[in-house]
Amino acid sequence: MDNTRYKVLLIEDDKIDQIAFKRLVENEKLPYDCEIAGSVSEARSILRSEKFDIVIADYLLGDGTAFDTLDLVKNTPIIFITGAGSEEIATEAWKSGAYDYLIKDNERNYLKAVPITVENAIKHKQMEETIDQKQKNLEAIFDAVPIGMLLVDENMIIKRVNDTIRQLFGREYSEIINQRVGNALCCINSTYSKEGCRHSPACAECPLQKAVKSVLDSEQAVHAIEIHPTLKVDGKEITPWLSINAEPAMIDGCKHVVLAIDDITDRKNAEEKLKETMEIKSQFISMVSHELRTPLECIKEGIAIILDGVVGEINDGQRNFLDIAKRNVDRLAVLINDVLDFQKLEAGKLRLNMQENDISEVVEEVHKTMVSSAKERGVDFSLKLEDNLPKARFDRDEIIQVLTNLVSNAIKFTPEQGNVSVCVQHQGEELVIRVSDTGIGIPRQALPKIFDRFYRVQQPGKQIHGTGLGLAIVKKIVMMQAGRIEVESEVDRGTIFTVFLPLDPRSLPETPSSEAEKILENIITNN
Ligand code: ADP
Repeated sequence: MDNTRYKVLLIEDDKIDQIAFKRLVENEKLPYDCEIAGSVSEARSILRSEKFDIVIADYLLGDGTAFDTLDLVKNTPIIFITGAGSEEIATEAWKSGAYDYLIKDNERNYLKAVPITVENAIKHKQMEETIDQKQKNLEAIFDAVPIGMLLVDENMIIKRVNDTIRQLFGREYSEIINQRVGNALCCINSTYSKEGCRHSPACAECPLQKAVKSVLDSEQAVHAIEIHPTLKVDGKEITPWLSINAEPAMIDGCKHVVLAIDDITDRKNAEEKLKETMEIKSQFISMVSHELRTPLECIKEGIAIILDGVVGEINDGQRNFLDIAKRNVDRLAVLINDVLDFQKLEAGKLRLNMQENDISEVVEEVHKTMVSSAKERGVDFSLKLEDNLPKARFDRDEIIQVLTNLVSNAIKFTPEQGNVSVCVQHQGEELVIRVSDTGIGIPRQALPKIFDRFYRVQQPGKQIHGTGLGLAIVKKIVMMQAGRIEVESEVDRGTIFTVFLPLDPRSLPETPSSEAEKILENIITNN
């Protein structure tokens, strides 16, 4: 059972009503601890020193009305008792903060309604307090988040901000609240105009203004807009990077925008530093690889001249060592080429030369250059070209490189007496080029990783050289030409790489990903 007792103040000047009320409490065993004030002045003196759970007040009192006590009752629910026919007083009482009213009647039947009216008024008060507390909690969260929060109304006036905003922009609350977004958060480079800097030339372009306006107009959120204003904070000029998210919100039936502004200066600086470091690394690798190429060519040339016997007879022992030297120099050359190609692709420096080309002719050229190394390894290398293949737009040299890489892998990973073949078909708007081998295959779990740079499948007991860059290069080139590559493989059975190349990348519908957009842009700017 609920044992809650209520402390009740009855303000009533009629002695009989006072007695009737006390009797009601006794008879009904109401859990009230009652005090009675017989006048406004008596009520005021009691209210000054005591707090009650509920005040029940007769409206008309000898020395005034119950309204005269309202200033002291403030946080306590109050129920008015009025005479019959005084409903307008009751309405007035509602407006002044009364929770309910009772209308007196001669038989004092109104007293029967006292318990339920008191119960309701107290519940009402408790509910108000809960809502108030929830509101306060929300406000505390709003104020405490380490991200700047702003509430802007449909006239672009700032209605609420948290402390982070004040700190970010170095302004006082009074300089922000009830100001236009532009005026309150303006960058010191903007011209400060009366209408707000949305109307000044500098700020019309401000992405912060645009974001708020766009959300108000479209009722769609905008995310991750970056701004780089010049602000004066604590007397110092700073140029932070800020990221803005703006969400539409209906508050009190009106359109609003909730802005979250995050200081991303540290991240931006770190990105900038990383970019610089990457650039330096990339330049360094390019420079070193270039510098290695020239002497390597001289060594290669020298070895070839000695092996050919141009500078005198060599014996078998010497030939043996020179062969080893030649193989290793060739490996080094491949490695340097891979690194240089990859750097070029990574740095976005590869300019495609998109032309109409005959794929059969390209595949035959690859066959011509690779057939001898297949033969050397005892691997059969054949072509299967469909008749009347259509011409396609691609960068010839780059597709030669793609096929050379795929075929050289196929030869490299296929044991003696195995087969390597390149098959080309025309399917819809695409050329389908399959490079198949009957080699060692790729384990299922490695398949998703083989296009990653530097990834190589560990082959216990087998020493097959490589950089792990070949397939990363292949994939990048194919994607740059709006194509795609797939792989199927079975260990000890063989591998099939399939390249799909669009006949004309320009005719492709717009692709949603930004990478695809960049690819198409690249194609367009290269034509
Ligand atoms: P590399 O050949 O220089 O090691 P790639 O990027 O060309 O680098 O290939 C990555 C890895 O994928 C290779 O190390 C190999 O493990 C595997 N791989 C590629 N092609 C084949 C193939 N045809 N057969 C078996 N494994 C292959």
